Amino acid sequence: MSSTELLIDSHCHLNYLDDPELALTTARERGVSACVCIGVDEKGWPDVAAMAEAHEDVFATAGVHPDAAVPVAQAQRWLPEALTHPRVVAVGETGLDYSGDTSAENIAIQRESFAWQLALAKEQQLPVVVHTREACDDTLDIMRQASGVIGVLHCFTETWEMAEAALALGYYISMSGIVTFKNAAQVQEVARRVPIDRLLVETDSPWLAPVPHRGKPNQPAYVADTAAFVADLRGCDLAEFKQQTSVNVLRLFDRMRLRLP
Ligand SMILES: [Zn+2]
Repeated sequence: MSSTELLIDSHCHLNYLDDPELALTTARERGVSACVCIGVDEKGWPDVAAMAEAHEDVFATAGVHPDAAVPVAQAQRWLPEALTHPRVVAVGETGLDYSGDTSAENIAIQRESFAWQLALAKEQQLPVVVHTREACDDTLDIMRQASGVIGVLHCFTETWEMAEAALALGYYISMSGIVTFKNAAQVQEVARRVPIDRLLVETDSPWLAPVPHRGKPNQPAYVADTAAFVADLRGCDLAEFKQQTSVNVLRLFDRMRLRLP
């Protein structure tokens, strides 16, 4: 591998791994040049920030995950300030998840929080990391209302039509280990069709380990397996695929400053 070859895990939760230091060493050995450690709540934020402060190749995001359904008034207390941290490269993860509690109250909180985090992104000129599950129309509606903001639909599992609508808004699409699963025909179709300059890869570790690591805790090193799978799916050269998708990460998360060897 040449020293300038890039491979970036665009979405992981290093602070939830049993041994993040070992995972980072393993990732570097497999050629991973950087990881984006995603913040999902107030409680985990200090750990996410500490990861990015301790490692030149780890960057942070700060946001409130839709699963927690935290009211804006509560997130207001810490999130705007967290976003001013010098290692923060995006707002999120935020978004909508209607796969669990779909009470009117929960949905209202999620929608309000998502719209507010998009407004914060606009104000701070940051991209957003979006989680969306069983909430396609509402997710796209709220994204459309926040014109001028771009980001990534992470761990994409929706239809090509949704991907197309998000691409039209300027968003990127990120593939997790799910794309390597046998029953993932719909996700694989999206992975084939997204223009190469709008595609990212991620682990979402510690969850969703790709083939051939299924059943094990996921780690950033395994982004190499997902990259190899998608490159093969698209019939493109692996080194070129890694480079392209990494350049995409650096274009989207434009506050990332990589110190290359
Ligand atoms: Zn995540």
